Amino acid sequence: MLDPDSLQIVWYPDPILRQPAKPVDRIDDQVRRVAGRMLSLMHQAPGVGLAAPQVGVSWRLFVANPTGEPADDLVFVNPVLSNPSSATEDHEEGCLSLPHINAVIRRPRAITITAMDLDGQTFSLAAEGLPARIWQHEYDHLDGILILDRMLKIDKLANREALRQLEAGLVPDSEQA
Ligand code: ZN
Repeated sequence: MLDPDSLQIVWYPDPILRQPAKPVDRIDDQVRRVAGRMLSLMHQAPGVGLAAPQVGVSWRLFVANPTGEPADDLVFVNPVLSNPSSATEDHEEGCLSLPHINAVIRRPRAITITAMDLDGQTFSLAAEGLPARIWQHEYDHLDGILILDRMLKIDKLANREALRQLEAGLVPDSEQA
């Protein structure tokens, strides 16, 4: 693999965003360095979550931070979601791999996540609202699912031009880090 410090956010339609990611079999220095790089790219963007496929690494790993405070950084390795609430919520989402695209996405309002941290310890968290939404959005990336697949037709229409530009490989300079 490349030097983790050289990883950059990849944009749709990069095919890696559509590949189901592989479980991380061992947490070593390389994994920790990739996660560290992902956290800095997420903060730099700025964004609230970033999944490994979004930096071109097809691993089941994502980082999240709902507040932007460094103390709230979390790394989820081989995450599993469970207990989605039957209550759903509609909320606007963006994606660092889909610059200029926003859409209202319906998701369960609350969910539980179980994952490993960078010390190899398993932990579980339950949340509602923004953290629950971030986990579900980032988890989708590990299965090659994008907000494009979950957005309403009306939002697809509203984002038609931005999508067309991305597909043509035209992303405004302002979006380049
Ligand atoms: Zn995303």
